[in-house]
Amino acid sequence: MTYQLTENTLVLSQDYELFFHNSGSVENCLLRPTEVLLKFARRKDICITFYVDAGMLVSMRHYAETSREVSGMRDQVCRNIEALAAGGHEIGLHVHPHWNATRWTDRGWDFSNTRYSPRQYRAGEFFDICKSYCEELAEVAGAAITTYRAGGFCIQPFEHIGEALHALGIYTDSSVVPGMYLNDHDKSFDFRKVPDAPWWFFDGEATVSADSGRFLEIPISSMRLSPFFYWGRALDRLRQRQPPSVYGDGLSKAIGKVSALRRLMALERNVEMSTDGPKAPLLESASRVGNERRLCHIMGHPKLLSTESLNRLERFIDQHEISRFESVASLANRVRAGLSF
Ligand SMILES: [Zn+2]
Repeated sequence: MTYQLTENTLVLSQDYELFFHNSGSVENCLLRPTEVLLKFARRKDICITFYVDAGMLVSMRHYAETSREVSGMRDQVCRNIEALAAGGHEIGLHVHPHWNATRWTDRGWDFSNTRYSPRQYRAGEFFDICKSYCEELAEVAGAAITTYRAGGFCIQPFEHIGEALHALGIYTDSSVVPGMYLNDHDKSFDFRKVPDAPWWFFDGEATVSADSGRFLEIPISSMRLSPFFYWGRALDRLRQRQPPSVYGDGLSKAIGKVSALRRLMALERNVEMSTDGPKAPLLESASRVGNERRLCHIMGHPKLLSTESLNRLERFIDQHEISRFESVASLANRVRAGLSF
């Protein structure tokens, strides 16, 4: 049986994580903005998919044995994730393997000499990391994990990631942002050529559809961006700070100079539709609801939520008369039950 979306539908996902360069605090990057998101979700009756950086939980568990500070942080984060799951939100697996070699020091989390991208790991090594992260997350969430988002969108090549996900019984991915491209030293992806569809099945690579593929891709919607956006961000970075209205108090690692320059020089490029402080104002001009097929998937990060983000999102919801909300998992279930476009 096949059926179609009859209402304008929004999927909202959030990558629940600290910053990679200067981590920032659990309080400001995770707890406070998540509380704001939850309040909004309750009011609008939205179920959010939280992609939890599970390596952070594993690292916190490890260092909690010797540090009371980390132990306290871990308790807070675990309680927060339990509350998200209890509130009916989806907890998905987000893998940043660099946590495997991240150390806790008197100056906080030290990410130096870690490897960022899955492709920098041998297959068996990545498999073990993925498995331990997923088990930890399922235990904390008290729920089965059924969907995946690659850290930094690094879902290519998929072969080893796919083996790990298959072993974990995870067959839905949400890492592809159509049209987006980055080729940086340790972070790269190429989504310039993807199926023109709101979702697709795949087996080999997440960007190549295969009708009988085991995996389902629920992509993140993208929008066009002018280079002026990056000029503003470059200024913030020179000042070594987030824009003032963002909750998170850390700083992520800068992309390489060549990639940064490419961004500043490009005439226009695709980026993910996002609730992140700097990008949320652009939602208004993102004229189409994903592929004009009644579906839009907006992502974000609690750490980059701003005091304005959810006002912008609410305006977007009104503007596009969105009346139905799905998590990544609930949409995947409907697709597998015969939803078509
Ligand atoms: Zn991430």
